[in-house]
Amino acid sequence: MIINCKWIFDGDTLYKDKAIYTKSGEIASLRLLKKFYPEAHTIERDGLCLPAFVNVHTHIELSYLKGKLPRGKGFLPWLKYMIALKKIPVSNKKILNEAISATNTLKKSGVVYIGDTSNTLSCRELIEKNFTGGAIFIEIYGKKHIPTSEQKKHFPLCISPHAIYSTSPELLLKISNIHKKTANPLSIHVAESEEECRFVKKEGKMYDFLKMMGFLKDLPLAKTPVQYLDQLHIIDKNTILVHCVHITDEDINIIENRNASIALCLRSNDYIGGGFPPMEKLIKNNINISIGTDSLASVNDMDFLKETQFIFKKFPFIDPKLIFSWATYGGMKALKINPHFSYPNFIPIESNEPLEEALTESTKIYPLSLILVENHLQNPLP
Ligand SMILES: [Zn+2]
Repeated sequence: MIINCKWIFDGDTLYKDKAIYTKSGEIASLRLLKKFYPEAHTIERDGLCLPAFVNVHTHIELSYLKGKLPRGKGFLPWLKYMIALKKIPVSNKKILNEAISATNTLKKSGVVYIGDTSNTLSCRELIEKNFTGGAIFIEIYGKKHIPTSEQKKHFPLCISPHAIYSTSPELLLKISNIHKKTANPLSIHVAESEEECRFVKKEGKMYDFLKMMGFLKDLPLAKTPVQYLDQLHIIDKNTILVHCVHITDEDINIIENRNASIALCLRSNDYIGGGFPPMEKLIKNNINISIGTDSLASVNDMDFLKETQFIFKKFPFIDPKLIFSWATYGGMKALKINPHFSYPNFIPIESNEPLEEALTESTKIYPLSLILVENHLQNPLP
């Protein structure tokens, strides 16, 4: 298929009035592509065509918690609510129905690859059916044993600790050893709240709360959450550090030197209340940045386009190209997806304006990944 678009962004360069051959990703004039691929069906779009979106951080199985957790009250009250809510029994039907609805929103907003974090694997089949690839992160916390399960190539099951305050240092070390033997990505929530920064210094409300719950034993001291993880050898080129709101210059150097990725979840940070990552500093350093929506326990919807728009709204100095690059290639690098250009890796978005306009909420954007799927079915590639 050839898509003739007003604008094409390949993750790096923005092209005007060019066409793209979706099978190979070649970008050239329509006339040239038609000459080389005379059999290919052509669709016309007066808008913006992007590589597929990669949502590196979701918890689809938590979708039933939409709107149930406190907004803007800070991380610790949110966490206490979460612990209490997860103890209330809920039917599998309810979990699955809400997960299906969240999955539909993700797909409609152009998400093709996903990194989903799961405790129960109850939505594994749903994810494998609806997304082209990515990773399923089996979340480990407490003193839980490390489960094993059948591996699938396009959706590897990746062992991932939940966070430093919920996973014992012994278990973190054990996970780190397994992680080093596989080439799989590992995802962990880190430096999400100021409380977490006090926690690694063995002080503050989170430390007291978890001590009371009986979670803490032989905790090593560290200056920051990132340095705590680094002491346990968790951070390497396959690690995705989710949130990174409260990080120091020293932390940024560690992340850069280890060649790890950061997953931004800014709408989730906004919902919980507690600040945003130091965006200017992150951009200045050579760190791979990716984007996640997080779960419906801390955002109102799973619309990935809105997530990109929110970043631009909060940090308008950021080059729109960079945001779309994080949303596409940053995610591919983090999830170790080969950035090849074949169907359905390009999503035409009908917008009359280029990238900056696409990031303002006043502009109507129509992600057409589903229309592309329909077109593909009706007009198979030559
Ligand atoms: Zn999360």
